[in-house]
Amino acid sequence: MPDLKERICIIGGGPAGISAAMYLQKKGYENYVIYEKLNKIGGKSYSPKLKVNGEERSFETGAIMGAITYHAVHEVELFGGVGHDDGPNMRRMYRDSSGKEIFPFDIKKDFSVKKTLNLLKLKSQMKKLVKIMNTKYKGYDCYGHRGVAQGRYSGLSKEVGNALEHIEGVNPNLKDLALPFDQFCRLNGVEEVMKIWIGPYTSFGYGYFDEIPAAYVMKYLDTTTAIEFINMRLWTWKDGTQSIYEAANKKLLHPAKLNTEVVKVERPEGKVLVTIKDKDGERTEEFDKLIVTTPLDYFANYADAREEEKELFSKIIHEKYVDFIAKFPADKGPTISGYIFDNMTYQRLGHAMVYYHRWEDLGANCPSTVYALRNHMGSKDVPYDYTINTMVKDMELCGFPVEERLYEQETYYCPHVSPKDYADGWYDKLEAMQGKQNTFYAGEIISFGDMEDTCAASKDLVERFF
Ligand SMILES: Cc1cc2nc3c(=O)[nH]c(=O)nc-3n(C[C@H](O)[C@H](O)[C@H](O)COP(=O)(O)OP(=O)(O)OC[C@H]3O[C@@H](n4cnc5c(N)ncnc54)[C@H](O)[C@@H]3O)c2cc1C
Repeated sequence: MPDLKERICIIGGGPAGISAAMYLQKKGYENYVIYEKLNKIGGKSYSPKLKVNGEERSFETGAIMGAITYHAVHEVELFGGVGHDDGPNMRRMYRDSSGKEIFPFDIKKDFSVKKTLNLLKLKSQMKKLVKIMNTKYKGYDCYGHRGVAQGRYSGLSKEVGNALEHIEGVNPNLKDLALPFDQFCRLNGVEEVMKIWIGPYTSFGYGYFDEIPAAYVMKYLDTTTAIEFINMRLWTWKDGTQSIYEAANKKLLHPAKLNTEVVKVERPEGKVLVTIKDKDGERTEEFDKLIVTTPLDYFANYADAREEEKELFSKIIHEKYVDFIAKFPADKGPTISGYIFDNMTYQRLGHAMVYYHRWEDLGANCPSTVYALRNHMGSKDVPYDYTINTMVKDMELCGFPVEERLYEQETYYCPHVSPKDYADGWYDKLEAMQGKQNTFYAGEIISFGDMEDTCAASKDLVERFF
């Protein structure tokens, strides 16, 4: 029988921390605390309000969208009383690196026999990928990576029919998912599909296909989610993704304690001592259990990490994803979002890959968020200032002079491990550590760096260990 009176500390008030508290509360736990170092809920789901034409609107600096496959996020929505039918649409156009509009997926525009044949090839490889993922790679579409490197699957299902039910099985083919995604595609004769996957993958800051194990790509962009993206059937929220977690936080018995940073964790026999820093200074609280939803590669900076924790967490790599909200002179901005495929290669690090135009009714007066990556495994990072200047120039090439950057950031993004560490069973080593010294690990690294996978990882953790 679980002890529902246990004191549980959750570090981080992002989607992982808020959903972990929600799942604990649903299970009957009453004694949890969430510490959040910033003065806001939602972590990288941050949707500031800006005034445009005298009217306040939400903008996105982090998470933007979901899809029909966002089952765990939907549970958080229901808990908080938030829907996803009131958000703006997600229409888009395409440009080349010179800023010119292009039509890579439209047979009728810039018609040529070669283009037609290439698109037919792409269509047939898409069909092939859908088929092999459901047969050869059966079991790939559950959340998390337990057992995959050993040819097994075990986790909550992502499939629309039996979503969030626990599934498990053996499938030795799953070991292929440790390969970098480009090699995985070549192995299966579906390399054309990268032309589709790169849009919602690389431009959204999740890295390049020669460095990222296929498991991350296919768990995030499983074939259903990818098809929803292609057909632009996406969820967005009028008040932004942050509103999902703010609403859920309000329904918690113990809403997150803001402006409260965890600065020290000590785990003597049988208990967890957490030192926090807030406006009143530092103090130490005692708990029975700890759920860490914050970057594990930083855990040793403030916790009494064991050697095995240090060793495992030192293998985590993250992307350096830069974005800013650009304001343009009156009537001089984009009127629809744009994807610049030429810039989605690591040879073009630091270039704008996508810009997000959120409010169609504001037309060319709507600020847009512009995104770029500045790192790639095996390449030198490009400097931050270079990245910002390059992004500004790229927007100019597209015909949109940036007058002001209203909000600018670089995020710790998409934590993952290399194909080699994945194949060496990194995730099974992590699984073996869950619960040691009353410590549990949640957050983006567990499954993938999006809202859905992080919320589902919290559900899986609470279901299995609490
Ligand atoms: C530009 C961008 C675009 C994105 N687009 C999408 C999208 O369209 N769809 C989607 O599903 N996802 C998207 N994401 C990803 C999504 O936002 C993240 O996967 C999700 O926010 C991860 O949740 P998390 O709780 O694991 O981590 P985070 O959101 O990073 O939250 C961690 C929290 O912990 C807090 N914290 C850190 N250290 C401490 C400490 N010592 N003490 C107390 N608190 C601490 C942080 O302040 C933060 O609030 C996007 C992200 C970005 C940046």
